[in-house]
Amino acid sequence: MALVKSLEEVRGVGPRMVEHLQTLGLSTVSDLIDYYPRHYEDYSQVTPIQNLRPGHVTIEATIKQVSGRYVRRGMHITEAIASDESGSVRLVWFNQAYRASGLKQNQTYFVSGRYELRRQRFAIMNPSVERASDFPVNTARLLPVYKENKHVSSRQLRTLVQEILPIIDHLGETLPAWVVKDHELLPRSRALHAIHAPRSSHELDQAKRRLGFEEIFTLGLASLINKRANDSEQALAIPFNVELARSFVKSLPFRLTDAQRKVVWRICQDMEHIRPMNRLVEGDVGSGKTAVAAMASVMVLAKGKRVALMAPTELLARQHAKTMRDFISPLGFGERILLLTGGMRFKEKQRAAAAIASGQAGFLIGTHALIQDKIDMHDLALIIIDEQQRFGVRQRARLLAKAGHMPHVLSLSATPIPRSLALTIYGEMDLSILDEKPVGRLAVITKLVSPTERIRLYKEIDGQLAAGRQMFVVCPHISGIEEDSRAAEVVYERLTKDFPHRKVDLLHGRMKTDEKTTVMERFISHESDVLVSTTVIEVGVDVPNATIMMIEGAEHFGLAQLHQLRGRVGRGIDQGYCYLLLEGNEPPSRRLRALETMNDGFQLAELDLNLRGPGAVYGTAQHGALDLRLVPLTDSKLISEARDAAEKFLEKDESLLHYKHLKVVVDRLRTITNLN
Ligand code: ADP
Ligand code: MG
Repeated sequence: MALVKSLEEVRGVGPRMVEHLQTLGLSTVSDLIDYYPRHYEDYSQVTPIQNLRPGHVTIEATIKQVSGRYVRRGMHITEAIASDESGSVRLVWFNQAYRASGLKQNQTYFVSGRYELRRQRFAIMNPSVERASDFPVNTARLLPVYKENKHVSSRQLRTLVQEILPIIDHLGETLPAWVVKDHELLPRSRALHAIHAPRSSHELDQAKRRLGFEEIFTLGLASLINKRANDSEQALAIPFNVELARSFVKSLPFRLTDAQRKVVWRICQDMEHIRPMNRLVEGDVGSGKTAVAAMASVMVLAKGKRVALMAPTELLARQHAKTMRDFISPLGFGERILLLTGGMRFKEKQRAAAAIASGQAGFLIGTHALIQDKIDMHDLALIIIDEQQRFGVRQRARLLAKAGHMPHVLSLSATPIPRSLALTIYGEMDLSILDEKPVGRLAVITKLVSPTERIRLYKEIDGQLAAGRQMFVVCPHISGIEEDSRAAEVVYERLTKDFPHRKVDLLHGRMKTDEKTTVMERFISHESDVLVSTTVIEVGVDVPNATIMMIEGAEHFGLAQLHQLRGRVGRGIDQGYCYLLLEGNEPPSRRLRALETMNDGFQLAELDLNLRGPGAVYGTAQHGALDLRLVPLTDSKLISEARDAAEKFLEKDESLLHYKHLKVVVDRLRTITNLN
């Protein structure tokens, strides 16, 4: 009961504060408990004044003099002298006039703040000050720092947390007792106490370990339960047809890489079973995922069953239809492809429905229209989901529900996620990684370009365009406030003038579907040389003759996104170039510099993970409910321990019904990771 209590009932919280706390999303005690600090500042060492060094410091000292005065317009300064046995030091506060009245002379305080040089004299700037006691809140300890805003400070949150510590101390255990014991975890209440009020860094580490363990354990349980549910469904078994596989491989214009072979083989094996396949194929851009999907599709079509392929955009669906046709036509299945798009007229839709009903169309390719339209999906044996991270769980759910039985699911993803993270998050899927690129593919040459180098770059580019190559130009947004030099519309105008001998085209998400298709087709057939666009071209677009990628305002894009964009060039035999245009004179970020030297998507993802945390790699927007705050993704030992514990829990046939809190969390996680 204490948990759902409003923060209004906590001592010292008035109506104003309640409103302010709401701006941080905090209204109940439980919200506050879940509001973990973002980091900690170490003020735990009390230092004699004589030994102070610049940085975060804590002293235990007596206040000698306090004075406050206004300097210049509205600027107030409070100064005090603090002394201990070793010496004295100046304390300075800006615009905190109330400080002067709060400090008593000759009283001993803990003072924590930054010791730094100010106007040629050292002082402790804007320190927190508390009466010296055994239980300091804002001084002399490992100080938790919360996400704050202009209404609520970390200082206030710490004081508030102090009030609810007695509630935290009485919280019950959520994990089974044997899990806590076997894995030597802190009891939950102690861990939560320590996360908010650590007494030592060792205790803090223990707390993080315990809470991180629980995050992985619950996620593991959710995915294992989902996996069991999936395994108990029935799919259509598709026998492996060796002859067909041979002729398919022979008909390809290239040799499959070993990685492609291995993955294709696994998929065909999976589909031989009644148990529905649920496999995620991760492969860097250009690793050849489409060919893999084509071969799986052929197996299904040859059995007279259906395949559906869902792409995140209509542009991509069109392109997939074309590529798939090229791949499977030599085997006589080209005619069975049917492109379903949102923009189809009534007549076309009727014709499509008839083609599906008669069995003539067996390979349906489209976007969300596939799920929305009343299309008969029985006999659907395989669903291929391209760029799976772009589909909401609900959209997938609808598609699966329509089939009436559980189809085999093949998800393709070009967002490389480190294996440890993939196993944690996509635990219910089997994972295959295409870790090899087709031979002879040249790495894209990536260069950061400063504003002064632009003219020279244009010359170089024009030379390549003259030689018959094409260029993508990607902008962070479509239109901008007036002179926004990186808005697609502005860039389009500019490049039309800068490259007077070339045909420049514009493509963006606000254009009608027909227009987009026309523009794209003009580029594919090389009627245009330069295509200025927004990130609509991010995934999958395949124009081998386009060898140059120019990205305006590169700092506005994330690492994974830039890598995806870069993957649009260098897909043919010619050398690809990617130019990341910088603005102003700021030195480029570490992210951008990494792109110059690294070409491997997995390596970049690892770096992104380290720089920005799991959310960045995973795409928090879509999986907002999935909260991996403490999962120590670098701690593979802990991850496997927690996953093993989840497996053991299910093997023991323990019922979640005995663990109320756990059940709530696991149920929520199941809907996030669940595919059906
Ligand atoms: P992605 O994994 O990014 O979806 P695609 O499937 O679009 O990659 O393949 C990229 C390009 O590489 C396509 O033009 C495709 O025909 C070609 N390709 C695929 N596999 C091979 C291979 N084994 N050898 C040479 N080229 C290949
Ligand atoms: Mg692709």
